[in-house]
Amino acid sequence: MSKNFSFFIIFLLLIISCNNKSENLHPNIILILVDDLGYADVGFNGSKDIKTPHIDNIAKNGVIFSEGYVSYPVCGPSRAGLITGRYQDTFGFGKNPLFAPKDPNMGLPLSEETIADMLKISNYRTFAVGKWHLGAHESLRPMKRGFDEFFGFLTGGHRYFPHEWDLEDETKVKSQSAAYRTKLLRNEERIVEKEYLTDALSRESVDFIDRNADNPFFIYLAYNAPHGPLQATEKYLKRYSHIKEKNRRTYAAMVSAVDDGVGNIISKLKEKGIYKNTIVYFLSDNGGRLRGDSDNGELRGKKGNLFEGGIRVPFVMQWPREIQGGQIFNKPVISLDIFATSKALTSPLVESKNELHGVNLIPFLKGENNNQPHDFLFWRNNLMQNDVNLRYEASAVRTKKFKFIKNKESDALYNLKKEISEKTNLKDQDREMYDSLKYKYSKWYETLIDPIFLGLIANKEYNKLNPDRFSY
Ligand code: CA
Repeated sequence: MSKNFSFFIIFLLLIISCNNKSENLHPNIILILVDDLGYADVGFNGSKDIKTPHIDNIAKNGVIFSEGYVSYPVCGPSRAGLITGRYQDTFGFGKNPLFAPKDPNMGLPLSEETIADMLKISNYRTFAVGKWHLGAHESLRPMKRGFDEFFGFLTGGHRYFPHEWDLEDETKVKSQSAAYRTKLLRNEERIVEKEYLTDALSRESVDFIDRNADNPFFIYLAYNAPHGPLQATEKYLKRYSHIKEKNRRTYAAMVSAVDDGVGNIISKLKEKGIYKNTIVYFLSDNGGRLRGDSDNGELRGKKGNLFEGGIRVPFVMQWPREIQGGQIFNKPVISLDIFATSKALTSPLVESKNELHGVNLIPFLKGENNNQPHDFLFWRNNLMQNDVNLRYEASAVRTKKFKFIKNKESDALYNLKKEISEKTNLKDQDREMYDSLKYKYSKWYETLIDPIFLGLIANKEYNKLNPDRFSY
């Protein structure tokens, strides 16, 4: 080997080793999911009474997805889609799971890869914080689904004040609703926590950043706020003393607590010098429920249905190092895109365990691709009635302009670019478009399977079939 060639090889090795230990090439990813937040309940979507300055800053320094969707209008299935990057009905997660810690089939099937599993390929440190809702059985908990650490609770919601967490663990839970009262989990241990829940979740996220700033990390921060029960501390309530309606006031205070948490997280990123290369997403798992608390603005419908108010959510992201701030992206995107985007940035050459249904959004946000990220988005809304034999109450398809929707109240074609509020049915005017979207739906439907577990609504039926559900 010539001397020059040897020097060349050493030089190459040096470059490679420098790159390896250089500042993380892979961005940190923080996915902040809130629960039941109305489309118009953030400043960047026009809220007048609720102030969200820190969340609005994400919008200012990044992108507002004005047509950002989730894959289902209630908590559990929406989260199953988000965390797998796949339409959840393709693997049977078509209902809100019951709290059933003894049931290994009540939750996200083990056939599915989570976004945390995927990021582990690239040695991310991973942390799930807050609401899990993807299975309470020991085989389905966060630490078994790709997360190095967990802090939070397993069921679909939780009470917010520590003095109400009077059940030691799941063995003390004797009803569906009692699961809201368990002590919190840190990893697999029950702990004593003293802070208001939203503040505790924020604090733990900040602490994780503090401990992991030198490695690429992923935080899945699933605040249960502002999901019920409506509970806030005086610190946040007093910011909204001018709001007369009690539900709206408490809800606003709960959103304010989340906003403070977002602010603390951003501050910590800056303090650690990792602000620019951290992607932060903020979105809701479904639309507002409109019980005197939330506001979906001009959107028709609410949590639980397939009108825009159920599935179009407040949705922003920032990545200061790569993405130009101040953008409003007005083409339809979906929560499933977060998985595909994360994969494209971290392990693009590794084959996915399962087929992904989202797309990498980065080329669209950089102006390198001016097409639509999606030609079609699809939704199937499963059983909501208290009757196990009734199924599939609604369906919807979205294109660049149009939406086909069939549910109890509507069998329609709407032009959402002309009219966001889904009032003028164009079915008879544009029968060809209506029929073609209906056909598209029928083809997509063939890729789906029936829900693999009984949902929240079938609590009584489940108890009859599983009389030992709560006995230990
Ligand atoms: Ca929800």
